[in-house]
Amino acid sequence: MSAEKIHIEVVYALAHEQTLLMLDVPKGTTLIDGVKLSGITNKYPEIDLEKSKFGIFSKLSKADVILREKDRIEIYRPLVGMLDFDLHCHSTFSDGTLTPTQIVARASERGVTMLALTDHDDTDGLAEARDAAEKCGMSFINGVEISVSWRKHTLHIVGLGIDPNHPPLVEGLKKVRSGRGERAQKMADELAKVGIGGVLQGAYKFTTNPNMIGRTHFARFLVESGHCKDVKSVFNRYLASGKPGYVPHQWADLADAISWICGSGGIAVLAHPGRYMVGRRSMGKQTMHELLGVFAELGGGAVEVVTGSHTPPQYAEFARYAEEFGLLCSCGSDFHGPGESYRDLGKLPDLPLGCRPVWEHWQHVSALKAA
Ligand SMILES: [Zn+2]
Ligand SMILES: [Zn+2]
Repeated sequence: MSAEKIHIEVVYALAHEQTLLMLDVPKGTTLIDGVKLSGITNKYPEIDLEKSKFGIFSKLSKADVILREKDRIEIYRPLVGMLDFDLHCHSTFSDGTLTPTQIVARASERGVTMLALTDHDDTDGLAEARDAAEKCGMSFINGVEISVSWRKHTLHIVGLGIDPNHPPLVEGLKKVRSGRGERAQKMADELAKVGIGGVLQGAYKFTTNPNMIGRTHFARFLVESGHCKDVKSVFNRYLASGKPGYVPHQWADLADAISWICGSGGIAVLAHPGRYMVGRRSMGKQTMHELLGVFAELGGGAVEVVTGSHTPPQYAEFARYAEEFGLLCSCGSDFHGPGESYRDLGKLPDLPLGCRPVWEHWQHVSALKAA
């Protein structure tokens, strides 16, 4: 009598192609043995089973986990290099805790050779950062992160290589900023209803630029006052969509944000797309498709693939989306301050193989590469 078998699938995705193998393996087979039995390494000898990571249905899994019927194993390319480009971070000009000069110094210490400062809806920190970057021989890219409302979602669109003096951009950002004070008042009212008082004053205490009061400042106050243990749990409990303290707000129009960025000579990047949720669930494949289609059609040029908000399965997922929609790939830590962010500045995992990096867009970078 033959041993009982289960059916599994093994997937290996590159930006330009995806291979799916289906096979039956004996019950009790481990993930790594399933991969070996699939013979995928015959087709792709470059797969290094020692260094690759694996997932089952896009969740990271250990190599020795026992497979179950209909499991789909995904193989993630080892992140070969560490990028010394960081194209997304925040300073005290929005909700970061370090000044632009301190950000540049920290980035430089950590080996970053090209940095973009991308404060929320504000470009006033760029001059200081550029000065500091010049002094330590680091390439600096003018950036901004614009808050956008699209359908019922709040999206972040990063602009890279912008001209901060471009009048439509200046005017547009001013308008986006002006809604923040009003929203802060409403958030405080909502939190008061669930018994948390004095929040508005408390949150303002944490701002370094009162025009830029935002959820992070509320979060820091809620941590300080002992309501939550850290900033991440504040968002899980209070300030995210569907939670008390969340106030829907009309930010910039997607088309406007892209046109301000592109009109100023920059490239529009869809920031951390893996983070856009509906309640506790991701926005879903269909909505993501629609979003990327609209974004590309409006002139959007790139998508963040490697970011502090994505897991390795999401690096692969958004690399495929970028390929499908003809978008370049960007990377950035989204650093806000020591101890507060998922990732520190720089030392980001390499972009998945086959990605066209956003810096292809910049001529002076090509010149650097050629030198
Ligand atoms: Zn963001
Ligand atoms: Zn950000």
